[in-house]
Amino acid sequence: MSYEPPKDLYTIKGDMDRGVTMSTNVTRAAAAHPNILYSDKLLITDLYLTDGEAMLNVYCPRCLNSLQISSKRKAIEWDPDFGLFVEPFTCPWELGDRGDERIAFGVGMCRWRVAIEPCHRILDTTEGRLLVSGIAKDA
Ligand SMILES: [Zn+2]
Repeated sequence: MSYEPPKDLYTIKGDMDRGVTMSTNVTRAAAAHPNILYSDKLLITDLYLTDGEAMLNVYCPRCLNSLQISSKRKAIEWDPDFGLFVEPFTCPWELGDRGDERIAFGVGMCRWRVAIEPCHRILDTTEGRLLVSGIAKDA
């Protein structure tokens, strides 16, 4: 099965429309930045590996909040040559201050739920040639 990436791919990453970005991981460098393709969006992630624990930092494409997924709670497998696998997870953030402005604060939850399946693809994008290590699919 061939996969045609959308032409107008755009990226979601931490410095987008957020002013100063705070990181809980400022004292340790990311081990990798696996790129994840989700529909017409490219999610830029940080992957930290410490003491047998993997921590994936990804920005939710629906509500743009920062998500941290730990291998202590979800299965995460990373191999630079194979790609990134993450067990299905759900965005826990409330909608309102970001995302759909029509939903009053505290009323709606984001509930973006995906699984990430490993892949190894080179994409030509407006930002150059990017390696995609995972495909996010609604779960
Ligand atoms: Zn979300």
